Amino acid sequence: AKHTTGISFMYYSEDMARAAEQRLEITKDLHPALARNEFEVYYQPQVDLTTNKLTGVESLVRWIKSDGTIIRPDHFIPVAESTGVIIDIGKQVFRKSCRQAREWREKGMLNFKIAINVSVRQFSDPDFVPSLKQILREEEVESSYFELEITESTLMNEVESTIKLLEELNDVGFAISIDDFGTGYSSLNYLLRLPIQRLKVDRSFVMNVEHDEKARTISGLIVSMANNLGIMTIAEGIETEGQLEFIRNLGCKDAQGFYYSKPVNCTEFEKWYKEFKKQ
Ligand code: C2E
Ligand code: CA
Ligand code: CA
Ligand code: CA
Repeated sequence: AKHTTGISFMYYSEDMARAAEQRLEITKDLHPALARNEFEVYYQPQVDLTTNKLTGVESLVRWIKSDGTIIRPDHFIPVAESTGVIIDIGKQVFRKSCRQAREWREKGMLNFKIAINVSVRQFSDPDFVPSLKQILREEEVESSYFELEITESTLMNEVESTIKLLEELNDVGFAISIDDFGTGYSSLNYLLRLPIQRLKVDRSFVMNVEHDEKARTISGLIVSMANNLGIMTIAEGIETEGQLEFIRNLGCKDAQGFYYSKPVNCTEFEKWYKEFKKQ
């Protein structure tokens, strides 16, 4: 038994060493990647469950290396968070989303919002609001096209300062959505004091509504609570017709997920949108 433990420990530490090595490599590559403009924005549609109209898209960053390899955010966002380079990546994602908004507006197709993910490090950066305003000014687009998605865990900060910052963002004209709602440990009493417009029901509930009673109950509670409080709702991670029907019957307003489309680049999104409008 002792021997087995020794071996598994050896594998474990080898894995850990490999993970640490990968992290180090990513850390080293992030700044040059930013300078080489390797971060691209992909878009995933959000659809109104009653009217079946597109109401928004979520901006999701992709790191596209010079050889064409695409690196998913789960691999580099945590590293970018810990080194702080997420602040500059976030600015670039927002700037690109603004340029895209302008282009779509000029094409007369921008009758939907663009949701931007905000990480905890950005949210606590004193330059966060001024930099968003500056980018809007420079790119000549209105804040009303944008929603900021802030995770429940990011919001678990000191109450008064969090409320103040969210009010400031509301005043600039951004809508605020709580991402991954239901996965944190914050009290409802706290969350519902915050000036927010929308709740995003986390994928971990949505993915299980077809076979798990608890997931059905929790999704139902979140949606009915939000509806009673006049807060909008969106369910993320919808993959199947069954999930879609369940979520629609709860009275959830919008839905997003592979059922409609994976996140895709702007060209593919425009193609998807043209087809979708024909339905
Ligand atoms: P998130 O904000 O919760 O984004 C949703 C993730 O779920 C996306 O992964 C999306 O591709 C994926 N997804 C959407 N629909 C489905 C579905 O039907 N099934 C399944 N299995 N997955 C689905 P992605 O793009 O890999 O992003 C992962 C996370 O990285 C995001 O989670 C977000 O926390 C972070 N992230 C992505 N882009 C940005 C960004 O520009 N800035 C910041 N700060 N974080 C970002
Ligand atoms: Ca999100
Ligand atoms: Ca989410
Ligand atoms: Ca998430």
